[in-house]
Amino acid sequence: MSHYYYLIVGSGLFGATFAHLATKKGKKCLVIDKREHLGGNVYCEQIEGINVHKYGAHIFHTSNKEIWDFVNSIVEFNRYTNCPIANYKGKLYNLPFNMNTFYQMWGVHTPEEAKAKIETQKAEVLATLQGKEPQNLEEQALSLVGKDIFEYLIKEYTEKQWGRSCKDLPAFIIKRLPLRFTYDNNYFNDRYQGIPIGGYNKLTEGLLNGIECHTGIDFFNGNLDKNNPTPLCECWRDIASTLVYTGPLDQYFNYSLGRLDWRTVSFKTRIEETPNYQGNAVVNYTSHEQPFTRVIEHKHFEMFGQEVYDCPKTVISEEYSTEYHEGMEPYYPVNDHRNNTLADAYRQLAQQEPNVIFGGRLAQYRYFDMAPIIEEVMNITEM
Ligand SMILES: Cc1cc2nc3c(=O)[nH]c(=O)nc-3n(C[C@H](O)[C@H](O)[C@H](O)COP(=O)(O)OP(=O)(O)OC[C@H]3O[C@@H](n4cnc5c(N)ncnc54)[C@H](O)[C@@H]3O)c2cc1C
Repeated sequence: MSHYYYLIVGSGLFGATFAHLATKKGKKCLVIDKREHLGGNVYCEQIEGINVHKYGAHIFHTSNKEIWDFVNSIVEFNRYTNCPIANYKGKLYNLPFNMNTFYQMWGVHTPEEAKAKIETQKAEVLATLQGKEPQNLEEQALSLVGKDIFEYLIKEYTEKQWGRSCKDLPAFIIKRLPLRFTYDNNYFNDRYQGIPIGGYNKLTEGLLNGIECHTGIDFFNGNLDKNNPTPLCECWRDIASTLVYTGPLDQYFNYSLGRLDWRTVSFKTRIEETPNYQGNAVVNYTSHEQPFTRVIEHKHFEMFGQEVYDCPKTVISEEYSTEYHEGMEPYYPVNDHRNNTLADAYRQLAQQEPNVIFGGRLAQYRYFDMAPIIEEVMNITEM
C-alpha cells in the first residue's frame, strides 16, 4: 500500500479542511470515515429535492473575512440569515430578544418604553432576592431579564433542553442574556453568514476533491486491506507518517481513564404534503405543551421566494433533547467538573502521542462552531 503523509480519521469539517490544505502543500493524504458518507455532521441527505441537515441544522457564520473567502472559494454561499421565531402557547415572538419581541410581548413601541418595562420587572425580582446572589438558573435569568421574558421564552425551553427544573439548574449556565433595543431579528452579530449554494455536501466534495477517501472504515476495527485483520489503529504507522485523529478522545485511549459524557439531540424527520409548513427555517417551541424544543423546516435554508412553492413538498425535523447513552451520536461535551477533569487527563495523554494530531470537536472534547474549526485547521497547517 502506498505511503501517505497523513492518515486522516474522520471526514467532518476538520478532517476535510485539513486534507484540502495539506494536499495543497504537496502532502499526500488518505481520509477514512466510519460512516457510509463523507462530511461528518454537516452532511445533508436529499429528500424530495431538499437538503435535510441529518445531524442538526447548521448555519455558517463568521466575522473573519479570510475564513469567509476561503469557504466561498470552495462553494459560493447564499444569503440565508438566521431569524428564529419562538412559539409560546400558540403566540409568536421574534428572537433574539429585540424590539419586535418587546412589541409582541407588551405592545411597546420605543426602546425607552421597553427598557422601562424590563427595569420594572428586574426590580421586582431584585426586591425578592433581598441582596442575595441568584442561587439557581431561574433566579439568575429573572434578575437579568425580568418575569415575562423568562416565563415566555426561557423557562420551559431550558427545562426541556436540560430535563430539569430551572430551580435545580446552576446559575452559571446563564451568564448574560443579550437584549437588543433595535428592530433587528438577525440572530448572529457576525459580519457574514449563509449556507453553501447546493448544500453542505458541495463544501465537503469541494474540499475533498481529488483526495483518496474511504467510507465505512472504522479506525478501531477496520482496515483498507480486507485481507488484513489488524485494525488501522494498530498498524497505521505502516502506511502513514502522521495521524490526524478527529474521533472521540476517550475512545482513542480505549476509555482507559473512564468515559466522557455527552449531551445529545434526537430528530423526528417527516415529509409534509405542503410547500410551506411554518414559513421559517427555525421555530423554537418554548412551552411544555410540545415535547420538542425546535422544528426545523429545511427548505428555507436554501429556497427563497417563489422557489419555496416550486418545490411542492417540504421536510421538517422536530428536535428533542435526549439523555445520552452509548451508541447515540455524541453532540455536545458536558462542561461539569468530572468531565473537564477527565478530558484534561486524556489531553495530557494525547500530548505524549508521537505524530498524532488530535483535532475537531470529538477529539478535543470541545464545542466549536464551523468557522473556528476551519480557523484552527488553517493555523495548524500553516505551521
Ligand atoms: C446539533 C449541532 C448543531 C450545530 N449547528 C451549528 C451551526 O449552526 N453553526 C456552526 O457554525 N456550527 C454548528 N455546529 C458545530 C459543527 O457541527 C462542528 O463545528 C463541526 O461539525 C465539527 O467538525 P468535526 O470534523 O470536528 O466533527 P464531525 O463533523 O463530527 O466529524 C467527525 C468525523 O469523524 C468520524 N469518525 C469518528 N470516529 C471514527 C472512527 N473510529 N473511524 C473513522 N471515522 C470516525 C465521524 O464519523 C465523523 O464523520 C453544530 C453542532 C451540533 C452538534
